[in-house]
Amino acid sequence: MEFTGSGKETGKLFYEDSHLREFDAQVLSCTADGAAYQIVLDQTAFFPEGGGQYADTGYLDGVRVLDVHEKNGVVRHKTDAPLEPGSCVHGRIDWEERFEKMQQHTGEHIISGLVHSRFGYNNVGFHLGADYCTMDFDGPISPEELRRIEWEANRAVAADLEIRVSCPSKAELEKLEYRSKIEIEGQVRIVTVPGYDVCACCAPHVKRTGEIGLIKLVNRMNYKGGERITMLCGFRALRDYETKLTNAKEIGALLCEKEDRIAEAVRRQKEELERQKYENGRLLQQILAYRAKETPVADPVTVAFAEDLTGSAPREFMNLLLDQGAPVSAVFAGSDDGGYRYVIGSRSRDVRPLGKELNARFRGRGGGKPEMIQGSLSGKMEEIRECLQKFEMTDK
Ligand SMILES: [Zn+2]
Repeated sequence: MEFTGSGKETGKLFYEDSHLREFDAQVLSCTADGAAYQIVLDQTAFFPEGGGQYADTGYLDGVRVLDVHEKNGVVRHKTDAPLEPGSCVHGRIDWEERFEKMQQHTGEHIISGLVHSRFGYNNVGFHLGADYCTMDFDGPISPEELRRIEWEANRAVAADLEIRVSCPSKAELEKLEYRSKIEIEGQVRIVTVPGYDVCACCAPHVKRTGEIGLIKLVNRMNYKGGERITMLCGFRALRDYETKLTNAKEIGALLCEKEDRIAEAVRRQKEELERQKYENGRLLQQILAYRAKETPVADPVTVAFAEDLTGSAPREFMNLLLDQGAPVSAVFAGSDDGGYRYVIGSRSRDVRPLGKELNARFRGRGGGKPEMIQGSLSGKMEEIRECLQKFEMTDK
């Protein structure tokens, strides 16, 4: 369904004005692409994927633009419905999202420019996703150095510098010092943040550094011998601040502590919790020792039912019964209704046949070594007791 001008480069309105939100255009072609459609216009404000920045989304009349790509200068809009070739359409990009991307992208130029001039490192990877933005540098930067760069970048924002875009000739380019992520063929577009960065880039940026808002570096990690830095700019930084402040306030209220002292308060709580855990463990050992003493040793199998024992306590209890001279000890934790976890051990006999018998009679599962088996089963306490007492134990 070609109309006219196929193969002709699309007019790129996003280069003429990065703040253009709406535009009119003529549909040149519309082709089916699976369940979607590929639409070519004579001109567009939709920025296709490029320079590490994701494509714009939005609407062409009432039709949703899902993705945008460029090939040989022709911009293709992937839509969820067809449009009539030859017709005129009104385009509207999702402006808030585009503006946030431009905030991140321009912030990235300032950070990368500062890192390049201070350390000579290159930005070797840039990812600008829907909710976070990372950049990779090919050398190490300490947290203190990074903090200084962050402050310097925010001074560039406060200075509200005009961002210049130029398309220099080959001769001019040769004399120009600029950062470049890849070898660029054809016309090179240079984006300059005066005093901070000169970089070849194809994406739209904000017009003045003041539009970026806060530049906040929120994370760093070692990456291939260099640094991967996560950054939030402008409204994304504000959103992040909101989330973190809400959390800090909530934690502060829970701990009855001021927000700027919650880390220390949590540390104290954690230490207290460790002390409590240790104390609980010590008390449990005492209780188990008393209970073991109260349990009469029987021959061959000493049986104990303890509804409340959890974790490693049944095994510890079983060992205490062996310490008291039980040839075989069997501890059951649980209830008639909910089933039992069992642990059975002996220092002189093979307890595995006993386990097999129990599993067979009480729909159980589990096993282990000759000296100890563990598992679970379901049955009545009295029947389990009876089964164990009747079982003929043999020596190892
Ligand atoms: Zn850029």
